[in-house]
Amino acid sequence: MNARTPSSQDHTVEEFANSASHKSALPRFGKLAPMYSFALNPYDDARFSRCPNCGERTKLRKVPLFVHIDPLIPMVINKTTRYCTACDLLIVHRDELEAVLCHLLPDRSPETIRTHYLVLGTVDRKTYRASVKTPVPISELPAIVHDFKDVRQIHYDPGGWVPNDTEP
Ligand SMILES: [Zn+2]
Repeated sequence: MNARTPSSQDHTVEEFANSASHKSALPRFGKLAPMYSFALNPYDDARFSRCPNCGERTKLRKVPLFVHIDPLIPMVINKTTRYCTACDLLIVHRDELEAVLCHLLPDRSPETIRTHYLVLGTVDRKTYRASVKTPVPISELPAIVHDFKDVRQIHYDPGGWVPNDTEP
């Protein structure tokens, strides 16, 4: 154990759409009840075994993520995420997600993929498993998607952050 795990002071999480104008611009896609606060972690060297919001330990949780890739490629990616129960915060590591996207779309450059996708929400596990056998028509996708309750940004404070080597 290393006592120097990142504390809640090192990273802060802010609501991405905290102004009225942004809020109305948040894409609404899914018809199901919104689930999770969501944050895409842009820091390759931060894995968030502790929540950047409250400092509690996060859990590994595999969640089918609904990802929209321009132009009009919907994908469900079953991805291991970090989840804080207390904050209902789902953290997805950007580097890992983009590696999966690049693998699935080999004819696109990583740069193109990086600037052309959006994680819109989640699909429940049961629906996801069924959809692997019987693909869901595009027109019916909104009926299986939970949007996120809100989208947050993780900020890095260079003064406070210490690399953590305790990650499994
Ligand atoms: Zn938390």
